[in-house]
Amino acid sequence: MTTDWGFDTLQIHAGASPDPATRARVTPIYQSASFTYESTDQAAASFLLDDLDGFAYSRISNPTTAAAERRIAALEKGTAAVAVASGQAATTVALLNLLRAGGHVVASDQVYGGTTNLLLQRFPELGIDVSLVSDINNPDAWRRHIRPTTRAFFAESIGNPTGAVLDIPAIAEVAHRDAGVPLVIDNTLATPYLLRPIVHGADIVVHSTTKYLAGHGTSIGGVVVDAGTFDFGADPHKWPGLHGADVGHGDRSYWERFGADGIAYALRLRTTLVRDYGPAPSPFNSFLLLQGLETLSLRVRQHVANAEAVVAFLHAHPLVERVHYPTAHDAPWRDIARRLLPRGAGGVVSFDLAGGRDAARAFVESLELFSHLANIGDVRSLVIHPASTVNSGLTDEQLHRAGIGPGLLRLSIGTESADDLIRDLERGFAASALTARRIDPTPDLPSPTTPEPTRSQP
Ligand SMILES: *Cc1c(COP(=O)(O)O)cnc(C)c1O
Repeated sequence: MTTDWGFDTLQIHAGASPDPATRARVTPIYQSASFTYESTDQAAASFLLDDLDGFAYSRISNPTTAAAERRIAALEKGTAAVAVASGQAATTVALLNLLRAGGHVVASDQVYGGTTNLLLQRFPELGIDVSLVSDINNPDAWRRHIRPTTRAFFAESIGNPTGAVLDIPAIAEVAHRDAGVPLVIDNTLATPYLLRPIVHGADIVVHSTTKYLAGHGTSIGGVVVDAGTFDFGADPHKWPGLHGADVGHGDRSYWERFGADGIAYALRLRTTLVRDYGPAPSPFNSFLLLQGLETLSLRVRQHVANAEAVVAFLHAHPLVERVHYPTAHDAPWRDIARRLLPRGAGGVVSFDLAGGRDAARAFVESLELFSHLANIGDVRSLVIHPASTVNSGLTDEQLHRAGIGPGLLRLSIGTESADDLIRDLERGFAASALTARRIDPTPDLPSPTTPEPTRSQP
């Protein structure tokens, strides 16, 4: 593989060549739970991590999955990647590879609702403390929460659903210089085509591959990418997993054996957390992920062009109170977005609809082309009302902190024709305006006839 290949080439060719066994051009689905050892010596070498190239058991590694991992590592400019069964599993194991009971994470509060649940509900059950930062681009806001037990900083490059863009270089510096811990970035909304967190100083990148990387809404998956740059040797007492003797693979630590290759973190993640907790992806899903990766940049360019057209339409609409998109003219992180996202700010667009909850519901129900569902990053355009669905687990205060108002609608702009999307949104506004008039108590207005809800399932 050539490291100076452009993105469009890497997404097709990195990490895979014609199948050595059959000469199949496309990486086959190796739907096998286990793989035979060549000899008892090779079996022993595999268990001792002396042989990292072979395959033994698909809970730990698999040839189809490995091709996707190598390709994503190349796209993110990391040293290694580990694919797992979901984005949630990726965030979980990425952080648990740094933390244990008594540890502490500082995280942005403008993150995916499932991540908030993980941080605020599951981690406390494990004895892991979490501090949330609201003013995410203020280095002092992060610095203030650092404790002797802090082991990770966590944030999204582009926040879901409000589009908050993290000033990765500034916050990476606080993580490294003031806290001595890695910065873990969820790069799901940006994708490596728009932003490579590692280039800007992040140490670990996670994705829900369910979204743009696979791109077709067919399979749940996640991945953790190791930049290979964080110096886990500087404070060995902080990282007992990398320096300790709990290795079970000979008596040298992960850091001693693999630190110089920049793969100690990723290899420990695979051979302890994924091995022992077990969130392995299926080879079939890895195959679908590979198909998606091949067109990533083409799709993202169209997502961005369509999203920009929709943002312009929404800005001009009288029933829109506020548009949330990283490069919107009133977005607080607009300058950071321009600096870090020169190719565009992705396909997720949220907006506050006048009329609140009822208007938002009528809007969603009337759309015909946008599918009403809880996903993003599909080639199909999608819509959801976060306050009553994906974020309904959050309290009003948490919703407010995450910037989610009662009338907020989240759109995931697909790759269809922009004109068709805008026409569908016009239908939504017409329906929401009708609701607003219906609940308007003005007595002398004749009440409009209510049409049957036209709900379709594209
Ligand atoms: C969807 C999503 C996740 C969770 O991923 P799953 O694949 O659904 O488990 C994590 N982070 C972000 C930003 C997401 O959009």
